[in-house]
Amino acid sequence: MTNIELVEFDSVSQNDTELFAQRLGGRLRGGEVIELIGDVGAGKTTFVRGFAKGAGSADRVSSPTFTVSNVYQAKKFEIHHYDFYRLEDYVVIENELAEVVSDNHNVAILEWAQAVDRAIPDNHVRIVINVTGEDTRQIRMELNPDYTYVKDAE
Ligand code: ADP
Ligand code: MG
Repeated sequence: MTNIELVEFDSVSQNDTELFAQRLGGRLRGGEVIELIGDVGAGKTTFVRGFAKGAGSADRVSSPTFTVSNVYQAKKFEIHHYDFYRLEDYVVIENELAEVVSDNHNVAILEWAQAVDRAIPDNHVRIVINVTGEDTRQIRMELNPDYTYVKDAE
C-alpha cells in the first residue's frame, strides 16, 4: 500500500506511552480499527489504558486475555478491546469482530490480531511497540491516508 504516513515516538516511561495513546484517543471519531503489535510486556494494554482515557472513558482498562474482549464506554464511541493471544475459536470471534468494526459507533483496538486478519479492514491504524530498554519503547504508528485527521491535529 502507498502513502502510509509514519508517526514515530520514543517513549521513556509507562506514563509517556499512556500520554501518546491519550492523544490518539482524543482524535478518533468512531469506526476506526487499531492493531497493536508487540511482544508480551511491550505495553499494548498500557496503550489501551491511555487511549481510553483520551477518548473520555472513565472505565477501568484491564487485560482481556482470559475474556477475549472488554468494552469501555467513551465519549464518542464504544471501545472494544480484544486480546486474541489465547483464542481458540477463531470463527465465532471473527464474525463478532466483523460486526463490531462495521459499526462506526465503535472503535476496535486489538492485541495479537494476526490470527483474525480476515476481519480487519485494510486501512486500520497499525501500531508497533518495540522494547528498547527496561522503561523505553519505540512506538511506530502507521496511518493510512483515510486517517490523516489523526495527524492533522499534531
Ligand atoms: P502487553 O499488553 O504488551 O503485554 P502491558 O501493557 O500489559 O504489555 O505491560 C507493559 C509493562 O511494561 C508494564 O508493566 C509497564 O509498567 C512496563 N513499561 C515500562 N516502560 C514502559 C513504557 N515506556 N511504555 C509502556 N509500558 C512500559
Ligand atoms: Mg496485553
